[in-house]
Amino acid sequence: MGLEEYKGVYVFAQQVDNVLDGVAFELLGKGKDLAKDLNTDVTAVLLGSGVKGLADQLAEYGADRVIVVDDPELKDYRTEPYAHALASVINEYKPEIMLVGATAIGRDLGPTVSARVATGLTADCTKLEIGDFPINAVGNQPQKHNQLLMTRPAFGGNTIATIACPDNRPQMATVRPGVMQKIAPVKGAKAEVVEYNPGFTPNNRYVEILNVVKAVKNTANIMDAKILVSGGRGVGSKENFKLLEDLAEVLGGTVSCSRAAVENGWLPVDLQVGQTGKTVRPQIYFAIGISGAIQHVAGMEDSDLIIAINKDEGAPIFDVADYGLVGDLNKIVPALTKALKEEMA
Ligand code: FAD
Repeated sequence: MGLEEYKGVYVFAQQVDNVLDGVAFELLGKGKDLAKDLNTDVTAVLLGSGVKGLADQLAEYGADRVIVVDDPELKDYRTEPYAHALASVINEYKPEIMLVGATAIGRDLGPTVSARVATGLTADCTKLEIGDFPINAVGNQPQKHNQLLMTRPAFGGNTIATIACPDNRPQMATVRPGVMQKIAPVKGAKAEVVEYNPGFTPNNRYVEILNVVKAVKNTANIMDAKILVSGGRGVGSKENFKLLEDLAEVLGGTVSCSRAAVENGWLPVDLQVGQTGKTVRPQIYFAIGISGAIQHVAGMEDSDLIIAINKDEGAPIFDVADYGLVGDLNKIVPALTKALKEEMA
């Protein structure tokens, strides 16, 4: 079958406990852009048990069509039935592009499915666009147009690689949550809903879930915060993060951190910003005692306003900051908190 027979941009609409994950909406937003460039439409693939009612929400965020596989076998995420369902949808409907969120589920599902449908997958993408693939991998064949160019950090974030999949379909990518922009939902939008059942034959890879123990979440979701007060190694100790908490409190913000702060055991990994942490886009991002390593900047450079406080005027964080304060954070942060308190009193 020719590659040109594969059509449409497909997005895996991840849900857990019948609640859609935000990354599904982000992928729909990006999917719409890609579909426009390819003159095609966007399909969400919704797998689960009793999930059909979520189709309208997917429509509001940009899905033209929703393929639903609704089966009790899909109640909780398990690799085998989910991979079977998604691979079957791909084999039946033949998408040109298949996007999956790089969540814990997506990182398991995406590669399993790409192996099953014998295509390539680029993991953990931070940028996707349609373009020309300059060199054909097979040799002296004509240049290929309208390829999905998938960009991701490589070699520990020291370089950026753009990868294409010119000779197989679908072109598959997992995409980091928080990187793509969702569209403003269109209330009342409707999508064509297609129900598909590939049939499930449980085998010894259908693990049995005996019990689900949910982690007690006491950390804020930094990806939703409008103001982030982020601290790094320069903060010096777990106790000293109190200075940042005080500042966050007057601003109605949330504390986050660099990897150095996590490695020192000062804050939990849920609060880490950067390439191996979360990608954030708050209205205001304070970088306090953070040097501005490329792996950190990758997770926060799209913030609307960046304010850096660092005692080293040559710190790279000042290259991405809108405002920079050179000096000792132990003096600047309490003074700033006090001034803001007075201002707001
Ligand atoms: P440092 O680089 O040590 O900087 C501390 C800063 O504090 C310095 O600039 C110093 O001048 C300043 N300072 C010290 N004392 C004071 C004071 N009293 N007042 C004011 N300023 C002061 N890092 C991340 O953050 N997120 C990631 O997701 C991430 N992923 C990574 C993935 C890979 C594969 C690799 C190899 C690295 C990754 N890193 C990540 C680590 C990254 O390279 C840096 O090591 C890390 O970001 C440094 O953290 P930092 O800026 O807090 O510490």
